[in-house]
Amino acid sequence: MGGLEYRRGMHQLGRGTWAYLSPPGTWGWSNCGLLVSGADALLVDTQFDLPLTRELLTAVAGVAPGVEIRTVVTTHANGDHCWGNQLLPRAEVVGSSACSHDMAKEVQPADLAALSGSRSPDTALGDYMRRHFGVFDFEGIDVTPPTHTFSGRLDLTVGDRLVELFEVGPAHTDGDVIAYVPDAGVVFAGDILFIGGHPIMWTGPLQNWIVACERITATGAEHVVPGHGPITDQAGVAVFRGYLEWVADRAQKAYAAGLPYWEAGDPAQVHAAYAGWGNPERLVITMAAAYRELGDEPHELMDVLAKVADAEPK
Ligand SMILES: [Zn+2]
Repeated sequence: MGGLEYRRGMHQLGRGTWAYLSPPGTWGWSNCGLLVSGADALLVDTQFDLPLTRELLTAVAGVAPGVEIRTVVTTHANGDHCWGNQLLPRAEVVGSSACSHDMAKEVQPADLAALSGSRSPDTALGDYMRRHFGVFDFEGIDVTPPTHTFSGRLDLTVGDRLVELFEVGPAHTDGDVIAYVPDAGVVFAGDILFIGGHPIMWTGPLQNWIVACERITATGAEHVVPGHGPITDQAGVAVFRGYLEWVADRAQKAYAAGLPYWEAGDPAQVHAAYAGWGNPERLVITMAAAYRELGDEPHELMDVLAKVADAEPK
């Protein structure tokens, strides 16, 4: 099926089932899913900006000409998974209630454009944001929240096929959802799973995220499509779960020792098993959230991001 090769575009995982991959999977380069049955189609997530989402829709038309995307599942509120929703104005956008609330308080496109554009601050953080986000086009984005929300569980149909949605957040964000497609043995995990790069925990708790990994494993799915990175399997989910357990252990020890969260998240201290993963500086964000679980007051986002920029290996 060629589904395991990590190249940009559609990868068929079964009859009427594709993953749309966006290498290199770093900040903003997110994956999507496509399910087709007859003339009916469902998309899992859109892209970070309008040009990238148009490219996605062209790829949909390439593998499934003439279908109508009647449903978009938004796995969570981060812009790289939903800022193309407006290009599907006739589709029902399905997400958790918590995701819908989260979208209203997320960083908005104009804010991100200001932080990463050519006139962004001449600081280490400005430099970091320009390098990682300056490549995207945040013009014209009208943040489009779910038109149908749910909590807990929701079954959808695409033609005669079943899609099971599980709300597993708060974990990566407030309202994370994963989509399981039983007839294809595929889970679209959104940012509950990152492959090849350090994940980011914006919300937590870590234990919920570990349980979310167990939810993926409980499906028995053969293929698991992460929010970022190449397609994986249950062994990949187990490795990722081990990372979260390592983070929980390191956070507890570092907190007890009185280290600040950015030292707990120092890329130089990452366990050897994860040394090859990209964007290790993002561990600083995860540690800030883990420290909140352990009793810290919430940290200002801009302060945390400044620490991330400082921690990036040079
Ligand atoms: Zn993402």
